[in-house]
Amino acid sequence: MINQEVSQIFNNIADYLEMQDSPNFFRIRAFKKAAESVDSYPEDVANLNIYELKKIPGIGDSTAKDILEYAKAGKIAYYEELKKASPVKLEELVRIQGVGPKTVKKLYYKLGVKNIDDLKKAAESGKIATLEGFGEKSQVSILENIKFAIVNKERTRIDIALEIAEKYIEYLKKNDAHIIKINYGGSLRRKNETIGDIDLLVSSKNPKKTSENFVNYPEIEKVLGAGDTKSSVWLKQKIQVDLRVIPVESFGSALQYFTGNKDHNVLLRKIAIKKGYKLSEYGIFKKLTNKKIAGKSEKRLYEKLVNHYIEPELREDEGELDLAINNKLPKLITLENIKGDLQMHTTHSDGTNTMLEMAQKCVDLGYKYMGFTDHFGNLQVANAIQPGEFNKYIDEIEEVRNKFKDKIKILAGGEINIKAGGELDFKQNLLEKLDFVVASIHSGFKMNVEQATNRYLSAFENPVITIIGHPTGRLLTKRPPFEFDYEKVFQEASKNNIVMEINAHPMRLDLSYQLVKIAKKCGCKIQISTDAHSVEELNLMKYGVFVARKAGLEKDDLYEYFDK
Ligand SMILES: [Zn+2]
Repeated sequence: MINQEVSQIFNNIADYLEMQDSPNFFRIRAFKKAAESVDSYPEDVANLNIYELKKIPGIGDSTAKDILEYAKAGKIAYYEELKKASPVKLEELVRIQGVGPKTVKKLYYKLGVKNIDDLKKAAESGKIATLEGFGEKSQVSILENIKFAIVNKERTRIDIALEIAEKYIEYLKKNDAHIIKINYGGSLRRKNETIGDIDLLVSSKNPKKTSENFVNYPEIEKVLGAGDTKSSVWLKQKIQVDLRVIPVESFGSALQYFTGNKDHNVLLRKIAIKKGYKLSEYGIFKKLTNKKIAGKSEKRLYEKLVNHYIEPELREDEGELDLAINNKLPKLITLENIKGDLQMHTTHSDGTNTMLEMAQKCVDLGYKYMGFTDHFGNLQVANAIQPGEFNKYIDEIEEVRNKFKDKIKILAGGEINIKAGGELDFKQNLLEKLDFVVASIHSGFKMNVEQATNRYLSAFENPVITIIGHPTGRLLTKRPPFEFDYEKVFQEASKNNIVMEINAHPMRLDLSYQLVKIAKKCGCKIQISTDAHSVEELNLMKYGVFVARKAGLEKDDLYEYFDK
């Protein structure tokens, strides 16, 4: 699937255009819009002809031709020209949060900044602070964000990694009848928010054939190593995939071993030794006789050592082995436990689908309830609803509600920005007419811990707030979270019956699982919502469920609107 690659290139083109001397804003917007449409298009755009491409909203004649060119040649000549003509490494620089094309342009002309190294030097020497429109604060935050970008450079978001792994497995199974068992391991199986390499484990009746088939995958850019039991490749999607071929009688123990994490495995090996066993990727063996007593099934391996199977999401060495031994493991929630979605946007603000389309999809997903939460107030980028448009919004919800009367309960909500002083950015008397309010921070991220804590605590005095949306504001691999006094804020939220969100959008996954654990300890209920801006994005719920499972959440930890 080339959608993500094309979308990235379109975004980059928009950035290059924005850097030009007299930017053509119409063209810039066109490329940004095209990038968004291609990214959210559910099928591979490589399979479409020019007529089909032009039917996608936001794709015009020229962007359709660009897509055809990329599908055929693997690159877009226009983009290559733009890159060549530019004196700076734009793509590298705009990866730094807070640095956009306009900033890059200024930094280049004033300070000669061409790449991250130059930028770092300029910030460290204090030159950025002296530029007009910058200052000490933005210099510090640029330095911090450079560090963050360097650390996160090699990591891939879970949704992207998962899709790549599932497609690879599908290909292997389809082209090779020798495969007995296959799965992915590592941090992907533990459902971490970002992934380094992808590990695939396979048992095969013909390891040689299976390995050959693996290195013939069409998405490979470079074969890094090829053997009968271990092979590695680098994919066009810029991620490494390792394949290990395992005898079927050791598949369970190998899967356990290659799922990790390391500390969990070290502890598990210690437990095995205490019991008079040896544990390796080949199985559990009696120490004295070397007799194998488990290895084929991962479940049996765990039951032998710690009495109960431990779900991969929990294997982070955070007490899960003790919980298993003492029969205290949580009964983790599953996607089937999710009965509704309480954050989504429609064409009333910055969503791409109508209320009717969103409601139909929620019905298809089997939900019992859903809530519209278009942006309200002064968020200009999000085309937010103004007080004068409030009634129109409510009227349409009423219409959709009538249409779906027997199928789903539809709630009227809104997503409202929490201003720096904690006030909500909308008329209070109108907010009181809503069924619920998602309050979230969308601007003014430059706060210290105390400011952020107080911003939330004063917001909590407003009784209309039901849920806090994406509570730390982070964008994975792009923008670090802002910090606040977590315990204080969660305790106060819990006292006021304010629910914390797990934003399931894989760009956010906010709260993180570590913070969900703290929120739960402080008595907060958790709402998992997709923050969908289109019908397709309503499918993102599973990523929020991954976070909840990693945090050890059970059904009763979830906020259920109907219980109230
Ligand atoms: Zn938001």
